[in-house]
Amino acid sequence: LTDEDGHGRDLVVGWMRELDLDVGIDVVGNIIGTWNCASGAPVMTGSHIDTVRTGGRFDGNYGVLAGLEVIQTLKEAGITPTRPLAVGIFTNEEGARFAPDMLGSLVYVGGMSVEEALDVIAIDGARFADELEKIGYNGPNPCPGPSPHAFVELHIEQGPVLESIGFRLGSVTGVQGISWQELTIVGQSNHAGTTPMSMRRDPAFVAARITVFLRDLAMRYGPPQVCTVGKVDLVPNLVNVVASKVTMTVDVRNTDEAVLRRAELEFAEFLSVVAQEEDVTISTRTLARFEPVTFDERVVDIVSDVCQSFEVPAHRLPSGAGHDAQMFARVCPTAMIFVPSIKGISHNPAELTDDADLSLGADVLLHTMLRLASTDFTIESNT
Ligand SMILES: [Zn+2]
Repeated sequence: LTDEDGHGRDLVVGWMRELDLDVGIDVVGNIIGTWNCASGAPVMTGSHIDTVRTGGRFDGNYGVLAGLEVIQTLKEAGITPTRPLAVGIFTNEEGARFAPDMLGSLVYVGGMSVEEALDVIAIDGARFADELEKIGYNGPNPCPGPSPHAFVELHIEQGPVLESIGFRLGSVTGVQGISWQELTIVGQSNHAGTTPMSMRRDPAFVAARITVFLRDLAMRYGPPQVCTVGKVDLVPNLVNVVASKVTMTVDVRNTDEAVLRRAELEFAEFLSVVAQEEDVTISTRTLARFEPVTFDERVVDIVSDVCQSFEVPAHRLPSGAGHDAQMFARVCPTAMIFVPSIKGISHNPAELTDDADLSLGADVLLHTMLRLASTDFTIESNT
């Protein structure tokens, strides 16, 4: 919801209008461009165009632009799908400024109230509703929005798995659970030269112990457990002053909800022990908490089939990153398509995917959307 986000939205909405899409904007700024070529609920694709401050070009943008490419290609080829096709741009997927992440798609599917979303305060103190209004994307369409017939998101993998095993396509089976917390550690600010070590109540040291604990926990649990301390703010942040306060974030993820809960519990116990040992207070606030998501097997199978039809087999894998598709999995048959990230690098300007893989991914998206349009998901398979 920065000015840059506003300019990016204007640009892509312009491209949606050039394709004669029906462009709708909802109350939290989600943009849905629909090709109303048939009746019924649309097959929806989409992703996000917001980015972390040090992000690359492909994360999110690729899925949105490939969706527009699909519609343009079908129109040029004179092919009319049996259902409308829609491309969504979901607000605040990254969550780097406003928590939780995937906020737009979460509100779209009714997982968070509009009122609560509009009142979210950014890390820079700005209010979500004010920033949305400032860029002119406080639209009229209500949330929750209408459920699509099916949803499929095309995204770069953002990890090293596909490249390391030599696959050009991934059929995503689900998304791991995410637990985000903000910790505030309060100790005693004091002189760095005169305060004996034994008398310190040093939140910077506690932050370091927490960071080491989380690393050890992840190593003890083994893959797919991951833990990250991504943000640490010291007050007053000066060379010769023992800090008075530290605010830090903790990101813990696992594909297994029971293991994720165990990790959270163990971490909470550690916090109370370290607070006592170091004579500091530690308060915690949940920024985001999403359980692991399993995608619809029928859609995962369609993605795999389409990849096979290109004679490029897809590797089935869970996603390590959160994605808007995981929200849509609550309301309609959903899955994702991955293309490899070179060296697994993402959330970094060096993020890169081969042109040939980007193009292949868009082809798979096109054929997956056509297959989804002609699939009747009300008929349950006999399993
Ligand atoms: Zn993304």
